[in-house]
Amino acid sequence: MSRRGKKNKLKYAIILFVILIFTVIVELTLNPDILETINSRIPKIDLGDAMAVHYIDVGQGDAQLITLGDRAMLIDAGPNSEEDGLLLYLKMQDIDELEYVVFTHPHEDHIGGADMVLEKFCVRNVIMPDVIHISDTYLRMLEAVEKSDSKLIIAAPDREYAFGDASLKILAPISDDYTDLNDWSAVIRLTYGITSFMFMGDAEKVSENDIMNKYNGFELKCDVYKAGHHGSTTSNSPPFLAVCDPEFAVISCGKNNEYGHPHSEILKLFSEMDIEVYRTDIDGTVVLKSDGLSVSKIK
Ligand SMILES: [Zn+2]
Repeated sequence: MSRRGKKNKLKYAIILFVILIFTVIVELTLNPDILETINSRIPKIDLGDAMAVHYIDVGQGDAQLITLGDRAMLIDAGPNSEEDGLLLYLKMQDIDELEYVVFTHPHEDHIGGADMVLEKFCVRNVIMPDVIHISDTYLRMLEAVEKSDSKLIIAAPDREYAFGDASLKILAPISDDYTDLNDWSAVIRLTYGITSFMFMGDAEKVSENDIMNKYNGFELKCDVYKAGHHGSTTSNSPPFLAVCDPEFAVISCGKNNEYGHPHSEILKLFSEMDIEVYRTDIDGTVVLKSDGLSVSKIK
């Protein structure tokens, strides 16, 4: 090739490169969702002996992944619309097997991805409350549980299970005659060393009162409180929060959701109680770390 030909080839290559960069910039400017998706893909978090608690951003819904060494468990599976995002997130974290999967209660924003989780991962134990619900999503979940090799554990108070060196205790549902499905939520307290994490599902004040009547303050104290019912005023009553006395609260909810979650009264309450708040609608996926002695935010 002549010198001139080589020069022309280089010129074209530079022009093509500039066009490519320009296209990417325009695409990201016009479609910020792409940027958001890229940001939500967190590379594998490996903390060695420490425990990681991921409050995964699944829009308006709940999904929390807990990892400790090579063990993993999942609390809720988000809404159906976020199933692909949840699958991607779990794959990015190198998850193949889940020792426990808790479906707190049968509402779609908690079990929408349940069938996917049961089909794509080796789930050892499924924990769920003994309540039925008539919906396609719930029936799909039941079918997937039946098809899987998972052991079914009914969420009942006082049941305690080992998760490596951590311990998972089911606090609720306590009664078997709740009229609101939210109060049937399996409430989980996870303890690692001297740190503890409370996962409220969508439990409302009726269940909170039952929990307070059954357990003493020592059994309810936690470092991190996953706000009940996406930060709604139906839950998170001041006396209950006073007993739990957390340092951090995490609210799992969708940006501009139709329910107005989290409610301003709850944000005010957290602020008055000096509780540091993280929100999946603002912060995206939140990841906290416990080394058994203290809790810190790593994302
Ligand atoms: Zn919910």
